[in-house]
Amino acid sequence: MKTLIYQNYAELSRAVAARIAVVIREKPNAVLGLATGSTPLGVYEELIRLHQEQGLDFSGVSAFNLDEYFPIEANAPQSYEQFMREKLFDHINIDPSNCFIPSGLARSTSEVDADCTAYEAQIVAKRGLDLQLLGIGRTGHIGFNEPGSPRDGRTRLVILDHLTRVDAAGDFFGIENVPVRAITMGISTIMEAREILLVASGAPKSAIVAEALEGKITSKVPASFVREHEKLTVFLEESAASRLTSRLQPWLVPDADFNSPALRERTLVSIALEQNKPLAEINHLDLASVGAARLGTDLAEAKDKVARTLKSKMDDEAHLPQGKTVLCLSPHPDDDVICCGGTLLKLSARDNRTFVAFGVNGANAVRDKDVLALLRARHPRLISYLEEHLEPGKSMEDAVNEIRTSIFEREPGAPDSKLLRELKREFNLTYLFVGHDLAVIQHICDRVAVMYAGKLVEIGPTQTLFDAPRHPYTEALLSAVPRPDPRLRRKGDRIRLPGEVADVTNLPPGCAFHPRCRYATDLCRVETPPLRPLGNGQSAACHYADKLELAGTGVP
Ligand code: SF4
Repeated sequence: MKTLIYQNYAELSRAVAARIAVVIREKPNAVLGLATGSTPLGVYEELIRLHQEQGLDFSGVSAFNLDEYFPIEANAPQSYEQFMREKLFDHINIDPSNCFIPSGLARSTSEVDADCTAYEAQIVAKRGLDLQLLGIGRTGHIGFNEPGSPRDGRTRLVILDHLTRVDAAGDFFGIENVPVRAITMGISTIMEAREILLVASGAPKSAIVAEALEGKITSKVPASFVREHEKLTVFLEESAASRLTSRLQPWLVPDADFNSPALRERTLVSIALEQNKPLAEINHLDLASVGAARLGTDLAEAKDKVARTLKSKMDDEAHLPQGKTVLCLSPHPDDDVICCGGTLLKLSARDNRTFVAFGVNGANAVRDKDVLALLRARHPRLISYLEEHLEPGKSMEDAVNEIRTSIFEREPGAPDSKLLRELKREFNLTYLFVGHDLAVIQHICDRVAVMYAGKLVEIGPTQTLFDAPRHPYTEALLSAVPRPDPRLRRKGDRIRLPGEVADVTNLPPGCAFHPRCRYATDLCRVETPPLRPLGNGQSAACHYADKLELAGTGVP
């Protein structure tokens, strides 16, 4: 087994496509086993590019697909037949009669069984698969061989795992629409390919990748079987490889090169963290206890070098920004001075406009008296103002409490507290409220910005946005706002979004919200919608913002 790790998805996709291109160039009538899902999309884009720009010739190539939902119409947007046409076959010069995909058409079980046998026979008639491309599902499935699938399984009808159906729910507009069954090539069929490429990207796959590549070979993790193949190459994006031993405990890898400064640093820092010891106190016993004894021959020198590297990272100003506006997030009021004071000074010295955002009262770690102490040190004018304007008999703690109460416990429609308004006017403040409680946001904010997966998807005046949202994610959020008054209940039920929040390190292509959006179309899967103005001060990043009629929280 060869494992190759790439910094990002684009590099990974290019490398996999390059290997497939080599196979096709060496054998123009190559027989490929192909996969669906989001992982191979970049590979197919690159193969199309190689065909269009470099003349990669698919005219003699045959392709067998791993799987298909059952039952499903061939032209249904979610069918794998449609997927393969859209993502690859329609853009290359492959002969359609050489493209084989298990049929998902509804028919009796005995008819499906007969077709599965025929599918295997077609592979044999083409003299077997030269190369099989595989992704890996979160359950460890390859094709639709879910946990428990036998090592000697052939093409057959299977029942899908619940997690697999959850992952597909976005494409089907809800898990209830995802077929319960599918047809898949068996593990034995896959293992008969002359070469296997296993590809994984994104941090959510890291746990199952580690289990498949380093755990027990077992039917509980069907992907683990491919390790028995004599010509297997595993292509991983860095984030998908993050739980492999070579990343977590690099010193345990048999051919680890302890002359590499990066490996020494990683090893010693990991041991220091694991043993809860300063770097300087790490000894030979510590090394032996974690299996890193091979580093021990020149331990003193290694520690010295790592300490110098780490110090130079802290001292080195060259990597700091210059002439920028920098916002430092400090979760605790003293973090900035105790931990990062030197860095803040350096940022200022490099002509950066430097701001520090502190955790404020209400956070578990920050007490009111700490906030006041901080304000006294940082904003004495604000403290003087508050002291001058304290009502008779009230303390500073009362003032802080009033501010908090006026934000978090304000009655709907009640005006801002006098103190808040005065502070705003006196210090020319803008209040920025970050929160998930839409009911509170509705009552304290003039404008609302909605973010999804790190990007702004909608912004607008509060009441306009709450009455008539223009982005499906905002609609889903608003559907969760409790409306105890029956006259104010929104139309329809609470919208439960399928799947999980997008991985910001590996966003889905097109609109990042599309796997969870019930209005998504093919356009959404490929084209990223810009944030665009829609009138009334509202802007939204959705292709259909001016066509969809989305429900808000207003009176129906
Ligand atoms: S662009 Fe498409 S997927 Fe994205 S929010 Fe709009 S309808 Fe949904």
